[in-house]
Amino acid sequence: MRGDPAGVCAATGAAGRRCPALSPQPKPQNAITVAVSSRALFNLVEEQRIYEEQGLEKYVEYQQNNENVILKPGPAFYFVKALERVNARLLELYPDDEERFDIVLMTNNHAQVGVRLINSINHYGLTIERFCMTGGESPIGYLTAYLTNLYLSADCDKVQEAIEAGIASATMFTANKDVVYSDTQLRVAFDGDAVIFSDESEQIFKQQGLDRFFEHEQLNENKPLAQGPLKGFLEDLGKLQKKFYAKNERLNCPIRTYLVTARSAASSGARVLKTLRSWGLEIDEALFLAGAPKGPVLVKIRPHIFFDDQMFHIEGAQKLGTIAAHVPYGIAQKHQKST
Ligand SMILES: [Mg+2]
Repeated sequence: MRGDPAGVCAATGAAGRRCPALSPQPKPQNAITVAVSSRALFNLVEEQRIYEEQGLEKYVEYQQNNENVILKPGPAFYFVKALERVNARLLELYPDDEERFDIVLMTNNHAQVGVRLINSINHYGLTIERFCMTGGESPIGYLTAYLTNLYLSADCDKVQEAIEAGIASATMFTANKDVVYSDTQLRVAFDGDAVIFSDESEQIFKQQGLDRFFEHEQLNENKPLAQGPLKGFLEDLGKLQKKFYAKNERLNCPIRTYLVTARSAASSGARVLKTLRSWGLEIDEALFLAGAPKGPVLVKIRPHIFFDDQMFHIEGAQKLGTIAAHVPYGIAQKHQKST
């Protein structure tokens, strides 16, 4: 919160962690670091309202008075749980390997609110040892210091800043419905243009229309698209998938990835598949919707997170209960209309 004391950044040893010997913190250069904000991890809607309406002092007082009241899950909670289940499987298969997810709580909360956050983290048995309490300062320096691979926050300004700094990042919104998610497989769904790929083709579509876009994609079918802001995270998931494949766990891999794009297969699908191939990346399922709504397909997949650059698709997915994360990147930020 603005007006808080200067930033405190500490590796916090949460009390009561379960098996420290089995799960030492991996070094940032080996880990896939996922930074989440407190409002992404937990439902702090009521607390945020108190902060906005009554100010910082009342907010801190409320949090301290309720520090033994466990916070309810927020939009990134089930995704974080799923990351930790993947970690548990990796540790079984590769006990000495540090290549796994490391979750960092990146919060601009007052340090006194940390007690309630730690209590809630311990209550749910989450392994989050690194806290970064930025006290209202920009998180970018800390995100960079932790070699962050993905940053999820409820604050769209901070996410925008992170995207501009070249960090894969998305804004999370409180989910509208309670949905049951897989507890054996991490499922991550990505839009294509302006998420995994750059927005170069999206620009043709927005500026010159659908016919010119199809023509352009067919003409350039063999020219790989440039990478978009979430390509690196898809690559990170692919690296971990290969570790499961090496142990003969391809069919029941604990990680599954999905491309959910408004492109149509026949006219513009080949270019994205060939681009992925040129990067040496696999995606488990590619769904070309040819402009049809994404929400109904996402209900079938039930991803722990779905990334898209267009609010139109985010809202459509959310209405049907999908946890969607907005990637503020590319030309669509200037245009609301979408196919
Ligand atoms: Mg897109």
